[in-house]
Amino acid sequence: MWLVGLGLLLYDRLGGRRLLPASRRVAIDALCGPDVLQPEFQMGFEYADCWVEDSRLVVLNAVDAATRGAEIHVGTEVVAARRTPDGWSVDLMEVATGRTHTISARGLVNAAGPWVEDVLTRRLGRNTRSHMRLVKGSHIVVPRLYPGDRAFIFQQADRRIVFAIPYETDFTLIGTTDVDVTGDPSPPAASPAEIAYLCEAASTYFVKPVTPADIVWTYAGIRPLYDDGDDAQSVTRDFVLELDKGADTGNAPLLSIFGGKITTYRRLAEEALERLSPWFPEATKPWTRGATLPGGDIPVEGFDGFVADLVAAWPHLPAPLLRRLARAYGTRTRDLLAGVVETSDLGLHFGAGLHAHEVEWLIHEEWARTADDVLWRRSKLGLRISPAQKEALARFISARLAEPAAPHRS
Ligand SMILES: Cc1cc2nc3c(=O)[nH]c(=O)nc-3n(C[C@H](O)[C@H](O)[C@H](O)COP(=O)(O)OP(=O)(O)OC[C@H]3O[C@@H](n4cnc5c(N)ncnc54)[C@H](O)[C@@H]3O)c2cc1C
Repeated sequence: MWLVGLGLLLYDRLGGRRLLPASRRVAIDALCGPDVLQPEFQMGFEYADCWVEDSRLVVLNAVDAATRGAEIHVGTEVVAARRTPDGWSVDLMEVATGRTHTISARGLVNAAGPWVEDVLTRRLGRNTRSHMRLVKGSHIVVPRLYPGDRAFIFQQADRRIVFAIPYETDFTLIGTTDVDVTGDPSPPAASPAEIAYLCEAASTYFVKPVTPADIVWTYAGIRPLYDDGDDAQSVTRDFVLELDKGADTGNAPLLSIFGGKITTYRRLAEEALERLSPWFPEATKPWTRGATLPGGDIPVEGFDGFVADLVAAWPHLPAPLLRRLARAYGTRTRDLLAGVVETSDLGLHFGAGLHAHEVEWLIHEEWARTADDVLWRRSKLGLRISPAQKEALARFISARLAEPAAPHRS
């Protein structure tokens, strides 16, 4: 126990804590009431950390890039690329249609995560000294197990930790596992053994047992870890950049990213651009530290104050809907709701507060092309939508995209 306390003291000191409260020792009962954790767990440590909804993080970075002039091609694969006297010629394929086209570029950044080696060797025909270690992490989602907004980290007998986090208001997210993967990592899925492991890990601590029958959704991801030869738990979570300058420095660059974390993604991106700066002398100095993503410029009085302003400005819309929109779109909610007064102005209701108006916004502003894009990759409304509602949504999106003047960014 004292080791955990010492670790957290170091976390407070070394982590550069400025915004988050300091860690402290706490009585479990005082923290979450008597009936949440098994009675043998009396004392624990509380510390503060940050979280992010990763699919929103990805799409908001794409929106930000597009606003600054980037062209975004969703659902598009790099199938091949070769150096030309002027740079790179890159063959792309739209996965849904099989349509191909070629673009040119002054440099290439291979940020294909778990597929970085595949892109390098199979698509670009290059060799690499660096290798990836692919480690699957699975999660289960169950109806909310306890009240309040705290997350738990539970030490397991195998020395791993498993977390339980309040998720999408009505659910608890439990994760994760560490399973080495060989071969093509897609599409990753939680195996029955991982599901059993997570249920048992949570049931060791919660009063209410967690069983596979409680699960409403599972998902898995692949951690792209730089292979430094250690085991899955201790292999480095940091990144390595490999720069291929071609035959001489005058040739167009190819920068491959091995590993990386969400936490440090902006530092990684700035370091990548620093490595490419000889080829892009016009590039400006690093600027992303402290810059907000689109919609993230919430006023200083905080998120609840921002939601209260939305409720005051749109008194005829349900407050829970406004809160959800505020969480997903931040200050862009005002653009989304421009011209809307009543709920009926939001158009067809698909379920769970998702209306045609928001779907059109997602098609136009966030490149949504399928029902799964809307329900899982731009939101987590998939947790609340029935198969019939999803079918209606899919029909609506197909019809909208088939219109000659389809309202989407190209
Ligand atoms: C279970 C789990 C828990 C994690 N926990 C944390 C955490 O707590 N904190 C943290 O900071 N990080 C965490 N991570 C790590 C983090 O999620 C990853 O490091 C991050 O997603 C890597 O981002 P990426 O953009 O490099 O790769 P990805 O997000 O995998 O993106 C790679 C993209 O490349 C695309 N692609 C592949 N091949 C091609 C091709 N031929 N042409 C075009 N595109 C292609 C793929 O479709 C994909 O969209 C976790 C990861 C997992 C799986």
